[in-house]
Amino acid sequence: MRADLIIVGAGMVGSTLALALEHSGLDILIVDGSSLSVAPFDAQAAFEPRVSALSMASQRILERLGVWPGIAARRACPYGEMRVWDGSGTGSIHFAAASVHAQTLGHIVENRVVQDALLERLHDSQIGLLPGARLEQLRRSGDDWLLTLTEGRQLRAPLLVAADGANSAVRRLAGCATREWDYLHHAIVTSVRCERPHQATAWQRFTDDGPLAFLPLAGPAGEHWCSIVWSTIPVEAERLMALDDEAFCAELGKAFESRRGKVLHADRRLCIPLRQRHAKRYVEPGLALIGDAAHTIHPLAGQGVNLGFLDAAVLAEVLLHAAMRGESLSEERVLSRYERRRMPHNLAMMAAMEGFQRLFQADPLPLRLLRNVGLDLVDGQAEAKALFVRQALGLAGDLPELARA
Ligand SMILES: Cc1cc2nc3c(=O)[nH]c(=O)nc-3n(C[C@H](O)[C@H](O)[C@H](O)COP(=O)(O)OP(=O)(O)OC[C@H]3O[C@@H](n4cnc5c(N)ncnc54)[C@H](O)[C@@H]3O)c2cc1C
Repeated sequence: MRADLIIVGAGMVGSTLALALEHSGLDILIVDGSSLSVAPFDAQAAFEPRVSALSMASQRILERLGVWPGIAARRACPYGEMRVWDGSGTGSIHFAAASVHAQTLGHIVENRVVQDALLERLHDSQIGLLPGARLEQLRRSGDDWLLTLTEGRQLRAPLLVAADGANSAVRRLAGCATREWDYLHHAIVTSVRCERPHQATAWQRFTDDGPLAFLPLAGPAGEHWCSIVWSTIPVEAERLMALDDEAFCAELGKAFESRRGKVLHADRRLCIPLRQRHAKRYVEPGLALIGDAAHTIHPLAGQGVNLGFLDAAVLAEVLLHAAMRGESLSEERVLSRYERRRMPHNLAMMAAMEGFQRLFQADPLPLRLLRNVGLDLVDGQAEAKALFVRQALGLAGDLPELARA
């Protein structure tokens, strides 16, 4: 089977790219190792442990692609404020959407909800979808890429996009180099019921071992649910994972200084090792890397998939413009326009996360003083905070058309 463009990976980012190119006239095939089925949504079902804080820019992209109604009809929790504080000091900072005349800072949405809303749109489109199709081998064949899937099925296309996540098979098989290192952190994620309301606020406490986030969820009336991301050193993560539910809730409440009262219940816990990865190049002739296949960053600012949505929107824009000009889409000269627009932005975000993580893990007294004074100082600067809020909304820098108002 041959297509103009094959996207490997129908996760949140790959599916977004396919939909952004829906009316391009290109013959697109999107392949994924999973079943790509959409489960009926059950509002009574437990929350999925994996969630994302979707920025305003991501929301706009998903609205323009007709995906947002599918998310809103399922389950999404808007939040308008963010409170961050240093657990081993006195510094704190508070951000509010109202400071930039926005209604929300973003929405906390279960990854499964985003994924299902995207798949629903994909199933209704003319885009070719190949479920249960795991990429095993990849090589050049003339001007095309030749892909071999499980069970030996072969596909070919002159343009290939890797959207197959952090352990991208495309990236590995194409020999794309990466820079990577362990954060020496594992993230424990789960959903918890608290005694007190979350106040539509994203809460983050920096503990000595790493950040602990409580993110608001849209729970049933009268119940107060949050999604937690507890990043900590591996040995501590192992200990916390081994605790029974009651002991885990007690330790979690203590680590969070009981800001939302007692933690009354915790769902099934997942433990995810955190690793920073960045591809040295996002493109080569006939190939582009997007989303986690190109970069994975620490979840402390909840930016991973937001960067991925912007990658998808920018790559689609570059390809659409090139097609209008009659250029060959697989030329490196064309694909480099995507890399030039996205790499500096992604690198800046990764550097900021790295800096934050190091500053908050630093033990020497001068650094602890600096971060406490720094947080309080920035908290008093309305303009600096507004700048930060615009970053969090994803509205700073070179925005693709799909993310503009
Ligand atoms: C603890 C934690 C919390 C996070 N919180 C946030 C947050 O609040 N906000 C945020 O923006 N980001 C967050 N992230 C990051 C976010 O989850 C990722 O950036 C996002 O899931 C990446 O999406 P993707 O589509 O690029 O990759 P994936 O979601 O990994 O999708 C890859 C797809 O490729 C398919 N695939 C893989 N290999 C193959 C193959 N060989 N052949 C065919 N198909 C294949 C898979 O089946 C999958 O469907 C968090 C991450 C972690 C670890």
